[in-house]
Amino acid sequence: MVTTLPSAAELAATARETAKRCGVDVDALGAGVTTVSPVNGAPLARVGWAGPEAVNEAVARARAAFLAWRVTPAPVRGALVKRFGELLTAHKADLATLVSLEVGKITSEALGEIQEMIDICDFAVGLSRQLYGRTISSERPGHRLMETWHPLGVVGVISAFNFPAAVWSWNTAIALVCGDPVIWKPSELAPLTALACSALLDRAAAEQGAPAHLGQVLLGGPDLGEALVDHPGIALVSATGSTRMGREVGPRVAARFGRALLELGGNNAAVVCPSADLDLAVRGIVFSAAGTAGQRCTTMRRVIAHTSVVDALTERLADAYARLPIGNPLAAGTLVGPLISGRAYEAMTEALREAREQGGTLVAGGGRRLADQAPDAYYAEPALVRVGGQVPVVTRETFAPILYVMPYEQLEEAIALNNAVPQGLSSSIFTRDQGEAELFLSPEGSDCGIVNVNIGTSGAEIGGAFGGEKETGGGRESGSDAWRGYMRRATNTINYSGELPLAQGVEFTV
Ligand code: NAD
Repeated sequence: MVTTLPSAAELAATARETAKRCGVDVDALGAGVTTVSPVNGAPLARVGWAGPEAVNEAVARARAAFLAWRVTPAPVRGALVKRFGELLTAHKADLATLVSLEVGKITSEALGEIQEMIDICDFAVGLSRQLYGRTISSERPGHRLMETWHPLGVVGVISAFNFPAAVWSWNTAIALVCGDPVIWKPSELAPLTALACSALLDRAAAEQGAPAHLGQVLLGGPDLGEALVDHPGIALVSATGSTRMGREVGPRVAARFGRALLELGGNNAAVVCPSADLDLAVRGIVFSAAGTAGQRCTTMRRVIAHTSVVDALTERLADAYARLPIGNPLAAGTLVGPLISGRAYEAMTEALREAREQGGTLVAGGGRRLADQAPDAYYAEPALVRVGGQVPVVTRETFAPILYVMPYEQLEEAIALNNAVPQGLSSSIFTRDQGEAELFLSPEGSDCGIVNVNIGTSGAEIGGAFGGEKETGGGRESGSDAWRGYMRRATNTINYSGELPLAQGVEFTV
């Protein structure tokens, strides 16, 4: 595929106009830090950064908003999220363009990211009328037990570059209906996307007469993130990013008895069984492994294929990899855009070198494209590597499109390989044998937070709770009952008997 990358001036102008439609004046963002578009490696915008001291003021404003918002009826809170979802729908293409410009997602995936935001708003609006507590039988006559759920407080969201908008919205839509204001520290690599999303939320809040400062965005680096993490006024820190980051954030939040929701790195595998529909498996694997240029937390990084199919599968994957259109993510037909940075490309080449040293064979890809047009943009050919087993390089997350293929004989062995990595985010099995599928889903099966059958490891829907185990951090956000993490539970005992019987038959009469 022949691809021409847009010029720096073209991209900067698109960014300026697109942000403006969302309510952000790029020329008024201060002269702080220059961001770079991975599309052509050229400067995109200049934005001012907040220092850690900005957190105190932001928390004070959010706290004032919380006092009003926590007593606003939840369905009224839902009305704000409904309006926000409408504005996201109206600006879907704009926001997707900013995502593509800042992090290099292909248009279809960038639009999908914004659709995910719209979907979580719909979910949260429904949820605003369903924040149910339980009623529990009391052991005492004339007594009733019940649970009530109350707003928790200010939520701090720290997000990663690769989902620069959706992850914030998963947290924010739910937090808002639960009665919590949000302070967001987005990835330093995607400030325009964050400002545009935040401007639309501000607009929705003003239109709905909601308190000011329900949603605030603070731009800055890890030191700003650390200030959020340490602030006692932040009731919940929801942090998405590398396991390295989570290792720092988790203990710091715990030290002040705050609540943390950690969404960290993954190292996701698919098991391909002898009965698998290989056409379907190849499609599912290629999307999960090469999509988003291998830069999703749920990217498939390992295929564990039965010895009877591993050769045929590898051949078909290599054929598909050879036909992947790589290039300008904004151009129609492109399926693989750029890596986020030169560092990401270095990490990829280093992992490929280690894989070869550890006995692996590069079957497809691994090269660099378009360096002649844009020496500071990093377009990598997704790499397919055949390995004999789980050599050390396979057990870590390299945030780039490398797929390791390895054989297995017995399903129990494949499940053991699936689980034999420090991370526990997503997994899948391709099989037409129900017994095999059920074993993979059972307590003896995959140890991940996401366990799929006959689809890849990536591309989750918002209706389910999202997150993973082990070094992925244990957090759950988005759908199902993840909302409980954003509220505090009170257990109430109500005595309408006129007597005072004590629980467990205790006698205490003076
Ligand atoms: P990163 O860890 O470098 O940065 C993530 C965010 O954390 C950024 O906003 C950064 O400024 C902030 N940060 C870094 N150090 C911090 C600290 N000590 N205290 C507070 N904040 C700090 O990650 P990245 O390169 O932006 O994203 C890629 C990583 O994120 C991958 O490992 C990927 O698997 C993971 N990820 C996980 C999920 C998930 O849901 N599990 C989703 C998306 C990305």
